[in-house]
Amino acid sequence: MSFASATQRGWEVVIGLETHCQLATATKLFCGCRHEFGAAPNTNVCAVCAGHPGTLPVLNREALELGLRAALALECEVAPRSKFDRKHYFYCDLPKGFQISQYDQPLCKGGGITLASGKFVRLTRIHLEEDAGKAIHDRGEATLVDLNRAGVPLIEAVSEPDLSSPQEAHEYLSALKEILQFAGVSECDMEKGSLRCDVNVSLQRPGGPRGVKVEIKNLNSFANIVAALEHEIGRQLATLEAGASLAQETRLFDAGARVTRTMRTKEDAHDYRYLPDPDLPPFTFERAHLERVRSVLPELPAARRARYIKALGLSDYDAGVLTQSRALSDWFEAALRHSDAPKELANWLTNEVAALFSEAGSALRSVDDLPFKPFDLAELVGLARAGRVTRAGARTILRAMCERPRAPRELMRELGLETVGDEASLERWCREALVGRDKAVADVRAGEEKALGALIGPVLKLAGGKADPKAVREMLLRLIRAP
Ligand code: ZN
Ligand code: MN
Repeated sequence: MSFASATQRGWEVVIGLETHCQLATATKLFCGCRHEFGAAPNTNVCAVCAGHPGTLPVLNREALELGLRAALALECEVAPRSKFDRKHYFYCDLPKGFQISQYDQPLCKGGGITLASGKFVRLTRIHLEEDAGKAIHDRGEATLVDLNRAGVPLIEAVSEPDLSSPQEAHEYLSALKEILQFAGVSECDMEKGSLRCDVNVSLQRPGGPRGVKVEIKNLNSFANIVAALEHEIGRQLATLEAGASLAQETRLFDAGARVTRTMRTKEDAHDYRYLPDPDLPPFTFERAHLERVRSVLPELPAARRARYIKALGLSDYDAGVLTQSRALSDWFEAALRHSDAPKELANWLTNEVAALFSEAGSALRSVDDLPFKPFDLAELVGLARAGRVTRAGARTILRAMCERPRAPRELMRELGLETVGDEASLERWCREALVGRDKAVADVRAGEEKALGALIGPVLKLAGGKADPKAVREMLLRLIRAP
């Protein structure tokens, strides 16, 4: 049982997301320690982020700016006055015994994200807070603690429960990720933990009272979010249809078994004893400053997609694929500066180049890994468009470009892939191919251009794959029509 069976049986699914996102700052939120991924454990730690008594936090301006940028990119209402609070709890990865977060005066309220269907998903709020360290439990009997992450700046974006299916949750999160990436707020790399998600879900009858809400914590991939929601909806449906009642609780998703399990129930819910942090003064933004940040906000994915469709004539699909990541979109734009064929370029990028990333065993995972430059792809596409090389030949050159850093033009010559353009050879191959193919010739004469296909193949074969199919086609038509 899953989402589909819940809707079939007349249940409404209600989903909200809480998304933690690490800000792309150079240093931590309240100290000068570096914020980087993959450093040796406990190397980016000082007395402040290790929670030593008597140390004082100093707010990182860059983090505040990035938080503000997120707020403006998501069209939130920035609070006139905001403050930090201490959220108390005990855990080994939180040496201070409290997390510095924001309670009743968050950075901003409102705002939201529009889905492809036109549905607007509201944001409740976004607040700033520090990340906790990392407790590593799978090394034998000991639990190891790495404090590199302690004090890394986060924003937490809380959505209203406006989502009605696992697919909508997926779409909302993709859109949120794109916007934050494009706005330069965060890398939003789930694999590196810079984007993490908690979801809450309940079932209710249309128009009926709100169902019992269950939270699933720490989801770290899009696939897991969808799988966890599917499983949890199925579990709630089975419980409710059996006439039993659900407990309000927090659950964890076991990705191996693909089920959710109880983590804690309402009885042991935390009382965090929030209180204003006495070491950090409240902060405000001047209107002029706000407007300045708004005015330098980079072009966001929705605007970029619209421009690709309208100004470049790309399909909705290609525009969507190209704006899935800022890196890919920027790479495309860099190539476009050397090309007058946006559609072909988009096509090559979303098909042939993308195929390099998804191949088994490929070391290339994104445009960042490509050993050639946007300029080179533009040149290759130009060669293919001009008929200097066949599409198959261009594909071979693309592969070679991944192994040898050479210009496509040079590789074309080196690999002997340049199409033979001289009329004499072309005519010779065409005449040879026409011999004994009277039926096809008669068909073409009778106006059946489809029959040309049976003739082009043999010519290309005779040319050893080095003839431009377009030129072959034209030559054949000329010979058949005026022999
Ligand atoms: Zn530190
Ligand atoms: Mn949080």
